[in-house]
Amino acid sequence: MRKPIIAGNWKMYKTASQAKEFVEQVNGLVPDAEKLDSVICAPALYLTQLVDAAGNSPLKIGAQTMHEKGEGAFTGEISPVQLADIGVDYVIIGHSERRQYFNETDETVNAKVKSAFSHQLTPILCVGETDEQREAGQMESIVEAQVEKAVEGLTDAQIAELVIAYEPIWAIGTGKTATAEDANEACGIVRKKIASLYSEDTAGKVRIQYGGSVKPANIQELLSMEHIDGALVGGASLEADSFVKLLEAG
Ligand code: PGA
Repeated sequence: MRKPIIAGNWKMYKTASQAKEFVEQVNGLVPDAEKLDSVICAPALYLTQLVDAAGNSPLKIGAQTMHEKGEGAFTGEISPVQLADIGVDYVIIGHSERRQYFNETDETVNAKVKSAFSHQLTPILCVGETDEQREAGQMESIVEAQVEKAVEGLTDAQIAELVIAYEPIWAIGTGKTATAEDANEACGIVRKKIASLYSEDTAGKVRIQYGGSVKPANIQELLSMEHIDGALVGGASLEADSFVKLLEAG
């Protein structure tokens, strides 16, 4: 069956020495990679250091965004070639904060997902509705449209490798977690959309995470649901002991 994947998203937090200390604390406590994929998505500045510090441990390192081009005159940007070159394995694409504050669109998200695959990076594609959209009964149509546009042009084999994070925007950093039933329903909608675009078989392989105020106290219930294969965690991934507890639930 699908292997669970738990990814921390540090956002714009931590200094270099705090990042180093974190890896020293979790190294040796990360579950076997056969059982669980464990990932930290860190500020770009620390990626080299974290890849080195994680060494041969099962902890994998991810970026929080990237440019879709391999290289070029794009001041301030980081390319998938550069990420892959230093040993990064994952990249978050289309996080709601990127869509909201940095003008990422369904089109750029699609270009980045395809580019990540062509550079041997595994994309963690984020989708999710706002509070207003949920209140207006639009959760399903918004999530379906985001998924459809983001995966356009991907092959069945790529979809089977893709990680999709369903993150309702109203649950991110708010302490307001979706109920396990609501989260499962939305993740099920994502899977059904993939089945309609590809096949039941392919949809059965794609891993779908829930994200939004996940913490050690609620992760177990979320992971017990049929369509939830892991979690993308912000706040609760910042402290080593809390991150290790999340991994233990995986
Ligand atoms: P949170 O963030 O766990 O702090 O709600 C989740 C995310 O933004 O990925």
